Amino acid sequence: MTRTIEVVHSTNKKPKPNADNIAFGKYFSDHMFVMDYSEEKGWYDPRIVPYAPITLEPSAMIFHYGQTVFEGLKAYRTPDDRILLFRPEKNFRRLNLSSERISIPAIDEELALVALKKLIEVEKEWVPALEGNSLYIRPFIIATEPNINLTPANSYQFMMILSPVGSYYKEGIKPVGIYVEDEYTRAVKGGTGTAKTAGNYAAAYKAQERATEKGYSQVLWLDGVEKKFIEEVGSMNVFFKVNGEVITPELNGSILEGVTRMSIIELLKDWGVPVIERRISLEEIYQAYDRGELEEAFGTGTAAVISPVGELNWGQRNMVINNREMGELSRKLYDTLTGIQTGKIEDRYNWTVEV
Ligand SMILES: *Cc1c(COP(=O)(O)O)cnc(C)c1O
Repeated sequence: MTRTIEVVHSTNKKPKPNADNIAFGKYFSDHMFVMDYSEEKGWYDPRIVPYAPITLEPSAMIFHYGQTVFEGLKAYRTPDDRILLFRPEKNFRRLNLSSERISIPAIDEELALVALKKLIEVEKEWVPALEGNSLYIRPFIIATEPNINLTPANSYQFMMILSPVGSYYKEGIKPVGIYVEDEYTRAVKGGTGTAKTAGNYAAAYKAQERATEKGYSQVLWLDGVEKKFIEEVGSMNVFFKVNGEVITPELNGSILEGVTRMSIIELLKDWGVPVIERRISLEEIYQAYDRGELEEAFGTGTAAVISPVGELNWGQRNMVINNREMGELSRKLYDTLTGIQTGKIEDRYNWTVEV
């Protein structure tokens, strides 16, 4: 298998979006990475080509049975003009774990990282310089075989596209209101909740719509069986600080393992803050709230890094957390992680990878 990544340069460079107000997910850079898979050749022909529409047959399997996985990570520009990725090897590892769950053949994780660095090198002008902005990276794989038989495809395409994004917190960090979803289910053990696969996200829209209608910004997902135990917040992992101790739901087979989540656990351990991964019931959180021991709550993910929870609505039982203000620990975690990601704080953990 060849490791040379061919580059075809675009002759039609697009204008960059206005740096102070970039809408998330709307703008794409001039090039993309593509690699094909066939049963005979395995993964072949890795290449960087101009960003352009792709052609698929209407019978392409991706359209019918949702055999697709994706990832999300960011590239950051440092004050001294270097470009950093944050733990990208974790994303390619997770991409393969997601693929494994839905019978997509594994990619070469090292090749993927080499390809990503090369793509960003070609697109370095697209990594925004303005504080808070970054270049969002979307790797994904789709089943391309033209066949509507209900079976894994024999051909796939792996692509990476790049999207400049603005600061998640343009007006400063404001804690959000969360609605506890007790009817719809995001994932169950044995299902696909541990995989970043498209269907999980489409299946969550309905609950998100309801939360939005009720004036909340995200959904708190409970376990699919008993609707008692806390899983995630929207598409973020979730942490609570109760009486000085940080707790987060354990990886139970239906929760997505976030790279931000694992980094936060490592930071807390390093700081000597007690952090425990275990099963957490909503009732337990409510009781802690009632006793005045629920000190902070926050979601974690690549997009927001930390999203403090200011209110948790569970029907009649409404919890206003930390006076709707960002907690001290949430703030310290946010400042440290974003500081490391953007090269403003020394990276003692070897998390960043320079492009
Ligand atoms: C992507 C994702 C997360 C967060 O993962 P990060 O690697 O931290 O961005 C959490 N939950 C779900 C459901 C996700 O899709």
